[in-house]
Amino acid sequence: MVTPLSYVLYDEVEMKKAHPCFHRCKRFQILRLGADVKILCLGCGAILLMDRDHFNHAIKKVIAHHDHPLTDAPQK
Ligand SMILES: [Zn+2]
Repeated sequence: MVTPLSYVLYDEVEMKKAHPCFHRCKRFQILRLGADVKILCLGCGAILLMDRDHFNHAIKKVIAHHDHPLTDAPQK
């Protein structure tokens, strides 16, 4: 059992796999933390929803801490 990385809401994280969008971006921001985790692709602005276990496996590292959303993208 791997110890999950420690991260908090609005952290900027790097994922192991790039988002398959035009930007091939690996940087995401956490928009919601719960049983499900909602992350925002900082390349294209797409929002992805995944369960916590999946996220813990997919995250590579925390890049930076933020205390607010980085974009004006819809937060729903
Ligand atoms: Zn993207």
